[in-house]
Amino acid sequence: MKILVIDDDAAVRKFIGITLKQEGHEVLEAENGIEGMKKLQESKDISLMITDIIMPEKEGIETIMDAKKLDPSLKILAISGGGKAGPQSYLVLADACGVNATLAKPFSGKELLLCIEQIR
Ligand SMILES: [Mg+2]
Repeated sequence: MKILVIDDDAAVRKFIGITLKQEGHEVLEAENGIEGMKKLQESKDISLMITDIIMPEKEGIETIMDAKKLDPSLKILAISGGGKAGPQSYLVLADACGVNATLAKPFSGKELLLCIEQIR
């Protein structure tokens, strides 16, 4: 499937991209919510959005709400390493916004793929 990965950390985007491409998925990348929303609007066939929460320009929670407004059927996986508060508080917030799954950083490729398998 076509998957959009939004994270301001290039190393995380690269890791997720490699992991997903190995499984035959098509991957689009964006480094913040503004860029991510642009990609969502450009390609209507994205079925899963994986988004970080803490990002400059436009953060994840706002991005999740805008993406759901644009495409209510879009599946969303929120990922976060958290700030000072740790990942859980942000992921609970994402969960409250109606995401399909959350994953705390750091995670392995195997954990990521398992999580995606459960969403589909
Ligand atoms: Mg971040």
